[in-house]
Amino acid sequence: MKKTRGLYWVSNDLRLDDNPALITASSRVDELIVVYAPGRAWHESVWHKQPASPARWQFLYEGLRCMDSQLGRLGQRLLVSDSPAQPSIAACIAHYQPAEVITSVQAGWYERQLWNQLRAQFTEIRFTAVHSHTLFDRDALPFDCSAAHLPRTFSAFRRLIESTSLAAPKPAPGKLPPPPGDIESTPVAGFAPLTKPALPPACQNAAGPHDSGFITGGERAAQEQLASYFSSAAPSHYKAVRNALDGWHHSTKFSPWLASGSLSARRIIAALRDYERRAGANESTYWIFFELLWREYFQWYAHAHGTSLFAIGGIRNKRPVDDDNSDQLWRWQNGKTDFPIVNACMNQLRRTGYLSNRGRQLVASCFVNELGMDWRAGAAWFEYHLLDYDVASNWGNWQYLAGVGADPRGKRRFDLKKQADTYDPDGQFRARWG
Ligand code: FAD
Repeated sequence: MKKTRGLYWVSNDLRLDDNPALITASSRVDELIVVYAPGRAWHESVWHKQPASPARWQFLYEGLRCMDSQLGRLGQRLLVSDSPAQPSIAACIAHYQPAEVITSVQAGWYERQLWNQLRAQFTEIRFTAVHSHTLFDRDALPFDCSAAHLPRTFSAFRRLIESTSLAAPKPAPGKLPPPPGDIESTPVAGFAPLTKPALPPACQNAAGPHDSGFITGGERAAQEQLASYFSSAAPSHYKAVRNALDGWHHSTKFSPWLASGSLSARRIIAALRDYERRAGANESTYWIFFELLWREYFQWYAHAHGTSLFAIGGIRNKRPVDDDNSDQLWRWQNGKTDFPIVNACMNQLRRTGYLSNRGRQLVASCFVNELGMDWRAGAAWFEYHLLDYDVASNWGNWQYLAGVGADPRGKRRFDLKKQADTYDPDGQFRARWG
């Protein structure tokens, strides 16, 4: 009997644990090809010649390497393309002729366009996109996920979603269908096993340890951080310290792994509930859930609002101030503004690929309110640097701060002097990163 062949296109789900797309793929076919091809953003950007910093490439590379090694234990391997996703995946489908293509649902409009183009190109193949990046599946949402029906504010969303029951995370599969026997002898142009690095040159150049030195990509490092955080007492104090500008345990630091999919949001909730059973629930443990709901909101916000996520007028179609003064932009990016607290944050972002939530709010407020710049240039700079860059969370938060998004109160202006006095009273943060 002819074997059924499937192609699993890995994207924002670099993990084996709680990966519904991988489980779906492995349950339906006899032979599986597992591929990764960088999305559009890795190849072109309206704002930068290089869309991602060497540290971001490195983090991605570590995530892919880890996934390849986890797959290897189950007799599988990851094939990686060095070309943009659309032509690469199309070439792969044409070459291997799978009966099915399975992937994880993406929130970004451009990524969803790629998927739709492939579906239109190969009408005889079954295409399945599975929710792996969110707490809830689209059909479990208590509202229609469209621009007209998604709650306009986070509070309205939270009230609806909090009582919706959440599925338990699924364990990693114990076995996987093997790759086709001829996969080695019939390679597709542009694809190679990850052991022969096939990522774009910027990633290969970033082979050394990145400057942040503290966040390693991949599922193993993600699971270590999950275990380490919930075996400490930090979750019981989260709400009181989450706004600190520095300090590893002041917030969970789950975001980089969540963004690349090396950690599932549902797995975090399961670990949180387990912690609450052991150590007791309090306002702080609730607040971790609360923040993950913010993430969830922005995911569905991106789904609902499509290209408006990147429009200068946002979802409100409201034109903000949009100076494109390149000197101001350069000074903000390089920590040379008139605001020492902003400079310290921007230096931290550039050197580490990470910035606390409070730091992000301060520099975004400065960019929009003090410098009067086009918020999209700020969002793009974050996209370039953040190890946790997530299309929905980044552009959604920037819109919120610029007053063109989900904030019913309009633009947020932070008093930078007051913020520095509150969050860096002894100037230590400014001295460290200034
Ligand atoms: P914690 O405080 O421990 O929170 C736990 C988790 O909740 C986070 O890992 C994250 O997944 C989620 N979360 C917390 N706050 C938010 C929020 N405001 N919006 C969405 N999710 C949230 N987060 C990203 O993951 N990727 C981005 O690209 C991103 N860009 C941002 C841009 C701006 C201008 C601002 C103000 C915030 C942005 N955030 C982004 C949200 C937030 O700053 C980070 O998620 C958080 O600082 C990550 O650190 P943590 O994991 O220790 O967070």
